[in-house]
Amino acid sequence: MTIPSVRGMKDVLPPESARWAALESAFLAYAARFGFSEIRTPILERTELFSRAVGETTDIVEKEMYSFTDRSGESLTMRPEGTASVVRALLSHRSELGEWPVRLCYTGPMFRHERPQKGRLRQFHQFGAELFGTESPYADVEVLAFLNGFLAAAGLSGLSLEINSLGDPACRPEHHAKLAAFLASREERLCDDCRRRRVQNPLRVLDCKSDRCLEATKDAPSILESLCDGCRTHFEAVEKGLAAAGVPFSRNPRMVRGLDYYRRTTFEFVIPGMGAQNTVAAGGRYDGLAEVLGGSERIPAIGFAIGVERLHMLIEGGNDAAPEAEVFLVTSHKRFLDEAFRWKMDLIGKGVRAGMDYEGRSLKSQFRRADRSGAKYAVVFGEAEDSRGSVVIRDMTAASQEEVSKDEAMRRLTAGANKEA
Ligand code: ATP
Ligand code: MG
Repeated sequence: MTIPSVRGMKDVLPPESARWAALESAFLAYAARFGFSEIRTPILERTELFSRAVGETTDIVEKEMYSFTDRSGESLTMRPEGTASVVRALLSHRSELGEWPVRLCYTGPMFRHERPQKGRLRQFHQFGAELFGTESPYADVEVLAFLNGFLAAAGLSGLSLEINSLGDPACRPEHHAKLAAFLASREERLCDDCRRRRVQNPLRVLDCKSDRCLEATKDAPSILESLCDGCRTHFEAVEKGLAAAGVPFSRNPRMVRGLDYYRRTTFEFVIPGMGAQNTVAAGGRYDGLAEVLGGSERIPAIGFAIGVERLHMLIEGGNDAAPEAEVFLVTSHKRFLDEAFRWKMDLIGKGVRAGMDYEGRSLKSQFRRADRSGAKYAVVFGEAEDSRGSVVIRDMTAASQEEVSKDEAMRRLTAGANKEA
C-alpha cells in the first residue's frame, strides 16, 4: 500500500515547480528594487510567540496551529504566518540589521490546520515583506505600491485593493464599546463562536465568514467613524499617497483581518467573484507588536503576505517550461552507448542540457524521445559516420541534417552554451 501525503499538503511537480522557482526569484528581485533583503527564519518557533503575537482569540491560535511538545518537553509550533518570526528575529539581532528603517522580506511554507479546499491548504506558501522603524504614511504607501507593482508584474489583473484603519489604543476602546453594544443587541443572530467572541474580542465577529454573522453585522458601527485625530490624519495621508502613486483602492470599513496585531492601516488585495478564498494578499500596520513580544522600544512597522498558491491559481498557466534537453544523443547501436554517455557528460560540463536513451531503443523510439524532450539538435552516432570519425547533427526544428566531424560537432554544440554552468 502506498503512503498518502498529509491531508491539505501538496507536492509541487515539474513543470509547475519551475514556475514556482521563477515566481519566487521574481518576488525577491522586485523586493530588492525597494530595498528589501531576504530573511530566513526557522519553521519551528516556541508556541508562545504566536499565541502572544497573533492573539489568543484568533482562529489561527484557537484552532489552526500545528503545535506539539518536543522531546525536551517544550511546546513548539510550525509557523502559521511569517510576521511574528521576523519581529522576533529583529528583536534578537537588532544591532546587526543596520539603521532604521529596516526592510526585510521572506518566502516559504506556513502551516494551518484548516479545512482543505480550493485555495486553502494546511501547508501553504507566502511571500512577505516587513518595513520597520517608521510611522510615516509614506511607508504604508511604499509597501502598497510594492505589492501592487509586484502583483501587476506577475501578470495579475482585475484585483482590487481594499483598505481600512483599525485605529490604535487611543481610539479603539471607543469603537469596541460601540461594537460590543451593537453585537449584544444582535446576540441571537450570531453563530456560536461569535457569541463567545463578542465578549472576548468583538472585532473578531466582523471577520467571521458565516453567512448568518455577515447578515447580522451588515450595519455594524464603522471604525472609521471612531478614529482619533492621529489615526484619521494617518489614514487620510495614506489615501492621498496612494492616489498620488497611482494605486487604485477602495475603503472597506468591515475589514479587520484574522490577526490581532494590526493597528491603523489594514489592506487586502481581493479578486472579485472568487468566493471565500478571494484574498490574494493582505497586511497592515502593527506598531505595537514588538512591545507585545517583549521588545523594550515601540517599533512602528507595516507589512504584507501574499498567498503563493492563490497567486499561481490566478496567473495564466503559461507554456514556459524549459526543454528537458537542448541536445539529444541518438545511438544506432548499443556499442555507441559508452561514447554517447561520454558526450552527454562532456556537454553538460560545458553548460549544455543533454539527454540520451540509456536502453538503446530503436532509432524511431529515440527520435520520438528527442522530440518530446524539446531538443533543438539530435546527434546521431552511426556505423558509417563513425568509420569516418564523424556524426550526424540533425536540426530538429528544420528537420535537416548534416554529417560533420566529431570535433566540429562538439564545437558547434557548445558554441552558444552558458559558460557559468
Ligand atoms: P483568509 O481570509 O483567506 O483565511 P487570512 O486572513 O487567514 O486569509 P493571512 O493570514 O492574512 O490570511 O494570510 C495572507 C494570505 O495568505 C491570504 O490572503 C491568502 O492568500 C494566504 N492564505 C492564508 N491562509 C491560507 C491557506 N490555508 N491556504 C492557502 N493560502 C492561504
Ligand atoms: Mg484564514
